[in-house]
Amino acid sequence: MRKIDEIIVHCSPTPEGRDVTVKTIDKWHKDRGWKGVGYHWIIYRNGTVHKGRAENQIGAHCKGHNAHSIGLCYIGGMDTAMKKPKDTRTTAQKDAIVKLILELKSRYHGIEKVSGHRDYAAKACPSYDATTEYKDIFKPNPNPKPETELPDQVEDVIEDAAKPAKESKTNWFALLAGLLPAIGQAFSDWRVQIVMLGIGAVFAAGVLYRLHWKRTEARKAQKVI
Ligand SMILES: [Zn+2]
Repeated sequence: MRKIDEIIVHCSPTPEGRDVTVKTIDKWHKDRGWKGVGYHWIIYRNGTVHKGRAENQIGAHCKGHNAHSIGLCYIGGMDTAMKKPKDTRTTAQKDAIVKLILELKSRYHGIEKVSGHRDYAAKACPSYDATTEYKDIFKPNPNPKPETELPDQVEDVIEDAAKPAKESKTNWFALLAGLLPAIGQAFSDWRVQIVMLGIGAVFAAGVLYRLHWKRTEARKAQKVI
């Protein structure tokens, strides 16, 4: 398969409102001494897309740029009097061209841009500025890194710490850590005091753990971002 790095857009160029088939274009191009239709895809006025020359064959549509390109041609491009070039694309044709470009882009990853015939020759073809119209399709992604969010657990803890004291788990732990040993002191039995002190210590450890874990998780998350 030949290397494809560009799509070049053309018009037939035929008067606004007139339907022309691939067969007719094939005949015109044979009359010029070519081996048949020079475009790879032809877009009719009703938006249907028709096969011209096989994609693996070099087209005959843009002198000096045929070897590595795919040639598209929409039917139209001239006013009804055949006097002036005119962008006669129907809405269906506009949509079909964009769809076709996207489809070709997905099959040929080497395609870098879409041009109009007029970018390479002193012609009006395809009667509109194809380069500008499709440039966004091939614009490099300005934000290539995927967006990352803070892990759910980190958000949970941050949210928890921001809550009023009575709703926050961390703050409850801290309260119990101080309160339980104090209550323990009220009992004369030293075993009760020891047990209350022990439970208080467990809650105190819980507070330290949550605060430390929150910081390290947040740091990790920042590294990911
Ligand atoms: Zn052309």
